[in-house]
Amino acid sequence: MSLELIPAARPIIGDDERAAVDRVLRSGMVAQGPEVAAFEKEFGEHFVDGRECVAVNSGTAGQHLGQLAGGIGPGDEVIVPSFTFAATANSVALTGATPVFVDIEPDYFSIDPTAVETAITPRTRAIMPVHLYGHPALMSELVAIAQKHDLMIFEDAAQAHGASLGGRQVGTFGTFGMFSLYPTKNMTSGEGGMVACDSAELVRATKLLRNQGMERQYENEVIGFNARMTDIHAAIGRVQLTKVDGWTATRQSNATFFNQNLSGVVTPPVADDAVHVYHQYTIRVEADRDGFAAALRNEFAVASGIYYPIPNHRLPSLTRFAPDLELPQTEKAAQEVLSLPVHPSLSRADLERIVSAVNTLAQAGS
Ligand SMILES: *Cc1c(COP(=O)(O)O)cnc(C)c1O
Repeated sequence: MSLELIPAARPIIGDDERAAVDRVLRSGMVAQGPEVAAFEKEFGEHFVDGRECVAVNSGTAGQHLGQLAGGIGPGDEVIVPSFTFAATANSVALTGATPVFVDIEPDYFSIDPTAVETAITPRTRAIMPVHLYGHPALMSELVAIAQKHDLMIFEDAAQAHGASLGGRQVGTFGTFGMFSLYPTKNMTSGEGGMVACDSAELVRATKLLRNQGMERQYENEVIGFNARMTDIHAAIGRVQLTKVDGWTATRQSNATFFNQNLSGVVTPPVADDAVHVYHQYTIRVEADRDGFAAALRNEFAVASGIYYPIPNHRLPSLTRFAPDLELPQTEKAAQEVLSLPVHPSLSRADLERIVSAVNTLAQAGS
């Protein structure tokens, strides 16, 4: 008897989401409208302490527009981690500014504040920390550096809906915080993104850029995009918003089970005052990570993910921004990280199978 594969992620989309989409379709008004407005308000109240949010058609569009709205452009530098999804640096490069890659700290895989401070030049305008895997970046240190050097902070909270530090939700530390609503993220709208803004001016500028530069129809004030979210997508997102806390709690209890039962691998630590929402549960496998992942799949039918195998500064698309850069913690993480399934659809039997597979392989390898 062959085991059924445990997938690395499994978006949950149910009858409630289908009914919400059907309601919008039947209304005959499907483009950006009242569902989007309601989703923005509910998302802001839920995740960013009431900060005003602007819904767009992807997380990447959100971080791109947010930066343009913040005045980022050619000649500017934005400090980013290299150990993240390429969208982080892409969104900087698309404004015409230069992404400046720095190393991560090894505990939470987030941008290293000491490295940030070293990378600051007269052209630096902002720091873009990533709350990678759902664990908050070291915001106290980064906020202090930003204040000292008069820099903005743009938070990449694509993976961190509901994460917090010292009781403060991610997305509320910076000039803006971007959340992704891609299907494998902790909640989805199909595709989509939210930009949580710290000022009314930023909200207005982001909204203008989202809609061809128009606040009033055909009175275009600036050159803008069409990055609007549809009411169909917003309706899905609004339903997911009522469920995401339960899913997060399940992710957290799955992670606790792993923390208590895994052995022979490095499990992910959580900072004292942090809430980790486990978009990923990422272990380090210090020898032959790729062989380990293959054996997990082939021998135990457990899928896993490598986020991310190639640091951004080594990607063909981005290497021109840092041709000779050496980032030792980034390179090491890219070699060692392995994300185990932690999503809320896992059964108790799945969790036990994952633990026994990892422990067996870790023991065999040691
Ligand atoms: C998913 C993701 C993005 C981009 O979001 P999209 O909605 O896919 O455009 C950006 N940064 C990080 C870290 C991500 O995981």
